[in-house]
Amino acid sequence: MDGVMGRLPQPSRRDVLRCGLGACLAGGMVCRLPCAQGQDVAGTGALPGVALPGVVRHPARHWEKHADGEVKCLLCPRACVVGDVERGYCGVRENQGGKYQTLVYGALCSYNVDPIEKKPLFHYLPGTQALSIATAGCNIECKFCQNWQISQFRPEQVASTPVTPEQLAANCAARGWPTLAYTYSEPVVFYEYMYDAAAAARRRGVGSVMISNGYIEEEPIRELCKVLTGVKIDLKAFTERFYVEQCAGELKPVLRALEVLKDVGIWFELVILIIPTLNDSPEEIKAMARWVVERLGPDVPMHFTRFHPTYRVTNLPRTPVPTLERSRDIALGEGVRYVYAGNVPMHPGENTYCHQCRELLIRRVGFRVESSLIRDGKCPKCGTTIPGVWSQEQALSFAPRQRAAGTAQGTS
Ligand code: SF4
Repeated sequence: MDGVMGRLPQPSRRDVLRCGLGACLAGGMVCRLPCAQGQDVAGTGALPGVALPGVVRHPARHWEKHADGEVKCLLCPRACVVGDVERGYCGVRENQGGKYQTLVYGALCSYNVDPIEKKPLFHYLPGTQALSIATAGCNIECKFCQNWQISQFRPEQVASTPVTPEQLAANCAARGWPTLAYTYSEPVVFYEYMYDAAAAARRRGVGSVMISNGYIEEEPIRELCKVLTGVKIDLKAFTERFYVEQCAGELKPVLRALEVLKDVGIWFELVILIIPTLNDSPEEIKAMARWVVERLGPDVPMHFTRFHPTYRVTNLPRTPVPTLERSRDIALGEGVRYVYAGNVPMHPGENTYCHQCRELLIRRVGFRVESSLIRDGKCPKCGTTIPGVWSQEQALSFAPRQRAAGTAQGTS
């Protein structure tokens, strides 16, 4: 699972003066963005200085105006109706005089260069790196959130740095990073920034992957898929009760979004964090896997990952490895072709095996790819095509399929 590796600490005034980006000095970490200490390392233009906690305003997309000055947000299923000078549930979108605005456009609060395996995406350019970014905010509230320090706070409570979409894209292109990843918090709530960054990235030959909870309406995600090249969705559980009690969200809209992803044809993978006693029953895993095969197809990888006590769920133990193994076996038994065990380094369930002949294709240790035998997207032993995205050319060639009649209406 992702962690806030590059979360920007609160910079001191001295830090701001010493470094245009600030994070590397303030946090003592290795900053991989171009240093703004009077240099333009990547030749991409100097970054502006650190923004002390505050907000920026940028026109939001996907909302409608109501007659009484209220606006209705159409971005996620929460469908907030927001009065003047008020914000939606996520705390990062605000009604200003009848115009809806995002407060996190370009307000980078976390970044790191991660292996793509850390997202985790196992069938998307394995062994490559992704510049991973976030802003503050989320549209649900998981009690077990690993990144609650940024997801559960408002923009003015989190130190951020102004970085434009073009700068993100230019940095990736200059450093040879093939992918921009929108992650750590919830990219749905920084939709406009993500969209523009992904569009800029594409123009420079860089792909974009969204690491999301999937709590998004159909029109926005269809639009977004015009610029993305891959998606990972956290399917938190397979019961409404879990979503309501543990996440303040809903399952049904997430399933609907998954069907939309299937319909547009973008590459996506599923991660299920298995939490002891809350979502680990064999019956639930079986029902989930069966739904995945029936509605999304057998080629969508499922990652069952290990829970570690965190945030507001500190009373439960780490997930026993046999529980992950049992979940994996159930999903394989239901016909899912690629099922992984996550957060268990050295476990054979981290590897990729050909679904046809069971040849070991990709050997992993944690987030590191030790070896990969896949050539031109095929198993070298039996020639079977392995589902996934295996070249940058393939990633960038993705274009969403036209909408199928009645799509995404049938989830029950
Ligand atoms: S994106 Fe934010 S403001 Fe819009 S509906 Fe969702 S929670 Fe409400």
